[in-house]
Amino acid sequence: MTISTQQHPREATVVDAAPKQLLIGGTWRPATGERTFDVEDPSTGRALCSVADASPEDGLAALAAAADAQPRWATHPPRERGEILRRAFELIMQRHEDLALLMTLEMGKPLTESRAEVTYAAEFFRWFSEEAVRIGGDYAVAPNGTGRFLVMRQPVGPALLITPWNFPMAMGTRKIGPAIAAGCTSVIKPAHQTPLSMLALAGILQEAGLPDGVLNVVTSHSAGRLMEPMIRDGRARKLSFTGSTAVGRKLIEQSAEQVLKVSLELGGNAPFVVFDDADLDAAVDGAMLAKMRNIGEACTAANRFYVHADVVEEFSRRLAERMSRLRVGRGVTDDVQVGPLIDDTQLGKVTDLVDDAVRLGAEIVTGGSPRDGEGYFYQPTVLTGVPLAARLSREEIFGPVAPITAFTDEQAVIAQANNTEYGLVSYLYTRDVQRALRVAEALESGMVGLNQGIVSNPAAPFGGVKHSGLGREGGKLGIEEFLETKYVAVGGL
Ligand code: NAP
Repeated sequence: MTISTQQHPREATVVDAAPKQLLIGGTWRPATGERTFDVEDPSTGRALCSVADASPEDGLAALAAAADAQPRWATHPPRERGEILRRAFELIMQRHEDLALLMTLEMGKPLTESRAEVTYAAEFFRWFSEEAVRIGGDYAVAPNGTGRFLVMRQPVGPALLITPWNFPMAMGTRKIGPAIAAGCTSVIKPAHQTPLSMLALAGILQEAGLPDGVLNVVTSHSAGRLMEPMIRDGRARKLSFTGSTAVGRKLIEQSAEQVLKVSLELGGNAPFVVFDDADLDAAVDGAMLAKMRNIGEACTAANRFYVHADVVEEFSRRLAERMSRLRVGRGVTDDVQVGPLIDDTQLGKVTDLVDDAVRLGAEIVTGGSPRDGEGYFYQPTVLTGVPLAARLSREEIFGPVAPITAFTDEQAVIAQANNTEYGLVSYLYTRDVQRALRVAEALESGMVGLNQGIVSNPAAPFGGVKHSGLGREGGKLGIEEFLETKYVAVGGL
């Protein structure tokens, strides 16, 4: 592990340029009582700036603005809705470098990864700009020949959108894009650790011509206190949440009162299965991607590696060698490959999970502890001989730790892979096409990476089964989450 601590010359400029207030009904304004909270740079633990801390009254004002704008927005021409998204896509790409640096400063991921996320985020706007004009309907003759069925698709209504810190922009555009395209207004609440990327994005949408009130942004340090009154209010008709399963469960309960249409993208515990006939070079490349994208802080991160006993030694050696060469540091320069974890709590959790596995008999091949000095850095780590009883076999690690367990039997490894409450994504490496399809069918997850360490793509349906969530984002299905179906029974024919 090499360490980098350099500064980027434009840091202060991009932080200063980002909005810091609430966006309600098209107006930037402070929170009630001018309350603010600090945004921290996780690579130093020091404050970058402060942003508005919305009260429950501010939240309800944002919801009122969204509800007020809803009828006009629902009838806004789809082509124009699409063109606003397309202009926002272009603006994001023009400001790519500044947005990437801002994201790195508040979230910690290396600049190269922030650039990739900014592009990924923008692509949701491009995709949904194209979907806005493809909201279809249906017309059919009733089976008995009398009467007709007319089926129309309409926006579900004002939406509440809640996003996590690990992909501060893309988790937002994945919801805002289809909401705008479908004709829904919304209130979005980004995570308290990473509000700046969302605030900058809202500014760009305004510049792209989004009418007042169509997107409202509330930042807060007290998410539950802010969101619950909005969820229970009755004016919102939709809740779309990305975050932990524990919070997702609470939100389902709160949404029950007003019977909101709910979509949830929750936690994961992805198995990464390497069979003995796999292309080992590809499997190690895929493992690096599936494990180390976003410092391991991804819902799609490979959490458990199951490698066939005949290749486990070779795979572990190669993976450890690649992991130990990674450059760890402040992500603001191009040479850094691994940034800090998001905060002290996450660093403590990763440390505890590794210590627990080692206590139960796992061996550290590389890494195995936090980095000394400021910031929340954990060394890229490979563990072998990880017992099934270890907590990290069951819990989301959300850090740069690869636990490896050997297997010999296909049925047994499928059972192990499925032995989790989660079901977001699984990874599978084999050159045998029958085995590939057989195992892909048997894995209990919403997505499978087949000989591929990354599945995310704005044009594909992203989402999980079991406790990993409800609904899909992206692809053709993404816009469905923001549409209702109305059936008109046509008589007299
Ligand atoms: P989190 O604690 O659940 O927070 C997610 C969002 O929910 C944040 O904006 C948070 O606000 C807000 N929140 C927290 N408590 C709330 C409450 N009682 N009512 C309303 N909102 C509340 O999750 P996280 O730690 O930020 O994110 C990591 C988790 O997200 C992981 O489990 C990861 O797997 C999951 N994730 C899933 C996907 C997917 O697509 N499936 C994608 C990315 C991440 P505050 O910041 O103010 O707490």
